[in-house]
Amino acid sequence: MDSKLLPFAMQDVPRYTSYPTAVQFQPDFQGKTADDWLVSLDPDASLSVYLHIPFCQQLCWYCGCHTSVPNSYDRAARYVDYLVRDIRRSAALFGGKKGKVKHLHFGGGTPTYLDDMHIAEIVEAVDKGFGLESGGEVALESDPRGLTKERARVLAGIGFNRISFGVQDFALPVQMKINRLQTFGLVAAANEFLRQAGFTSVNFDLMYGLPAQTVESVARTAQQAAELQPDRISVFGYAHVPWFKKHQKMINDAELPGVVDRYNQATTIEAELRSLGYAAIGLDHFALAHDALTQAAANRTMRRNFQGYTTDVADALLSFGASAIGEFPQGFVQSARDTLEWSQKIDRNESPVTRGLATTPEDRMRSEVIERLMCDLSVDPGKIAVRHGFDPGMFDDVPQKLEAAIVAGIAQVDGSRISVPPKHRLFLRTVAAAFDTHFVAVPNRHAKAV
Ligand code: SF4
Repeated sequence: MDSKLLPFAMQDVPRYTSYPTAVQFQPDFQGKTADDWLVSLDPDASLSVYLHIPFCQQLCWYCGCHTSVPNSYDRAARYVDYLVRDIRRSAALFGGKKGKVKHLHFGGGTPTYLDDMHIAEIVEAVDKGFGLESGGEVALESDPRGLTKERARVLAGIGFNRISFGVQDFALPVQMKINRLQTFGLVAAANEFLRQAGFTSVNFDLMYGLPAQTVESVARTAQQAAELQPDRISVFGYAHVPWFKKHQKMINDAELPGVVDRYNQATTIEAELRSLGYAAIGLDHFALAHDALTQAAANRTMRRNFQGYTTDVADALLSFGASAIGEFPQGFVQSARDTLEWSQKIDRNESPVTRGLATTPEDRMRSEVIERLMCDLSVDPGKIAVRHGFDPGMFDDVPQKLEAAIVAGIAQVDGSRISVPPKHRLFLRTVAAAFDTHFVAVPNRHAKAV
């Protein structure tokens, strides 16, 4: 690693899955406003729906998701009951056309913690309430452990056509340190069952920066993952925040790779995947040539939202479940993280939204600038400013803000265009932060750049 890159690798910067980021959401935001935004949606608006299922069979020590291990299935069954009630309540408010849901995404947690009957009940509630578009994407996050042939077949029968699951690292010493044991054979079998059942898109998540990981282990994992030919592979750096995620205390700080090792692991995974036929996309995604994401990246139509990089171009993201984040043309909404508070609001027939942000025209313009940079690695911010009715000169100070990054080679200025060279894609977030007027460099508020 070039020593000029070191200070940038150690910076804490937002992931920019939204702009403004969730840190800026207001805690006194009214659920009534979320309902008003839903009612005011353009009747022709295309929709995306996100459902959060905050349950898992067991905790992985690295986990940064909003999830828990229930002591009985009853808790999950009650949760589904509330979730369906909230979908129906929102559908009754919604005045738009039915059949415009292009993307339905179950995230978590592990959505397949729920039994098939409950999953089917939720999909049916969304379909009845809002209407799934024929041929749309119906996706879920899952855990390959427990994904049997029969389960894959039933999930496909419910309508799922896309799945994403955590692989992280195939090396046993790493898996033991993170409390997630899953052999290559188990993942290969799950992958095979899903393909046989008719899933058209399979996504694996890999990680770097975990205890016991080495450049050799991540290279081997990347090769093994590519051998199974998932359509997409996402690669994330482990974010160690034990003061926020208590179970991460099970990971010994002293065993974590340092920043140079993390950088070497991330770049090794990228080199391996590229050599095995995967296109590098955005900050941290890889996809095969036939995949819609590869095509969207090439056409510069790819988007970035709370699920990462996507082909989803819906006008609004409706969200259901504790902690779930949604997006409307007017801004962002987030449901109560606490399941009790969330369910009590649904019991009172109220919106469970407790945080959110009404965005300004300038936020929306900056959001587009940051999204294009995060997706295309290059942006002409002045052009976007003009399209939104702003003075293109408002970004004249950006080259000066990026002076150190330009010297280090991670940012380039060509006329009014700002770019990040593909070999420095890991630093995209750092360059994007130059366009973020809300960003304050506070230690541990955001994940490290590398
Ligand atoms: S299965 Fe996924 S969501 Fe559940 S604890 Fe592990 S990493 Fe977190």
